[in-house]
Amino acid sequence: MKITALRLYHVAPRWQFLAIDTDEGITGWGEPVLEGRAETVGAAVKECESYLIGKNPMNINAIWQTLYAGGFYRGGPILMSALAGIDQALWDIKGKYLSQPVFELLGGKVRDKMKTYTWVGGDDPQDEVKQMEALLQSGWDTFKLNGCGRLKMLDSNRAINQVVARIEKIRSHFGDRVDFGLDFHGRVSAPMAKVLLKELEPYRPLFVEEPVLPEFAEYYSKLADSTSIPLAAGERTFSRFDVKSILQAGGLSILQPDISHAGGISEGVKIASLADCHNVGLAPHCPLGPIALSACLTVDFISPNAVLQEQSMGIHYNKGADLFDYVVNKEDFAITDGYIRPLTKPGLGVVIDEARVIDAARRPPHWHNPVWHHEDGGFAEW
Ligand SMILES: [Mg+2]
Repeated sequence: MKITALRLYHVAPRWQFLAIDTDEGITGWGEPVLEGRAETVGAAVKECESYLIGKNPMNINAIWQTLYAGGFYRGGPILMSALAGIDQALWDIKGKYLSQPVFELLGGKVRDKMKTYTWVGGDDPQDEVKQMEALLQSGWDTFKLNGCGRLKMLDSNRAINQVVARIEKIRSHFGDRVDFGLDFHGRVSAPMAKVLLKELEPYRPLFVEEPVLPEFAEYYSKLADSTSIPLAAGERTFSRFDVKSILQAGGLSILQPDISHAGGISEGVKIASLADCHNVGLAPHCPLGPIALSACLTVDFISPNAVLQEQSMGIHYNKGADLFDYVVNKEDFAITDGYIRPLTKPGLGVVIDEARVIDAARRPPHWHNPVWHHEDGGFAEW
């Protein structure tokens, strides 16, 4: 089998799909994207095209290693997102060729269903109780919300009280009917993280995500020593090599690699295993589309330490299209009581509505994250 063509589709809400065609008539799909940098990642994919055309797509390991290391410069969000989408598409081809779901090719599943959670509250969090009540009625009991809006490096008593009052309100309203993780989103400085973690401890969030920016990862272990709340991070790591030093430094309870940003399924499996070696749970980051979600689930279903899966249904970023709009076999993704079952169709198990994708790509989105400022005009982390 030989690769004959690569086709890229940049589509709403902020996703990019890659189709890799072969001379056997099998097409594999991947999702090479970095939110807000789809075109840059697309250019990186195109730079791999001349190498890929004519190659046997079954040789995933050899192709991966060459694309990763063959260009001398390696790693980082752009190159590893491009490689992730290519890797996903190659696994999709291999599974379709062998008529097996990819998790079977990786040794088979270790669980029958995977726990997922849903987002509430939006970018600048508010009104979560009402939204969570409605979602609870439809079977969701596990949520993620932003821990706070913009927060200064040294913020006021009032700002801290506002954060705590919001979370206190949620816990006192729902009791133990719900669980929720809080995403600090890199908005919180190390000095404020220490204060907030202490104040939020009584409300027992499942985890606090990105308690500080990833460039301050040395604080994870210090913060973990000062709180009983499990700390999570990893969406801004891009390979097992990035993860290695973070795990060695300690402090994280949950690792959240993005299987569309960190080299795909091949690298995701290795990252999951590295986390397992440190007794760290796996909760892949996935605010993206259906192929990215399927790639995450593939890693989850073969990883004993996978604990939770993010998914983007109804997420505040999904303007213009939602998670399953480009999927033909929507029923395979049914989420019951927050659990999703393995996708059992060959390959990644996602039947893409190609006509809809091609049409949507005629109106590519221009998604960029908001740029925030504090009241004094200074830059604020989003
Ligand atoms: Mg996050």
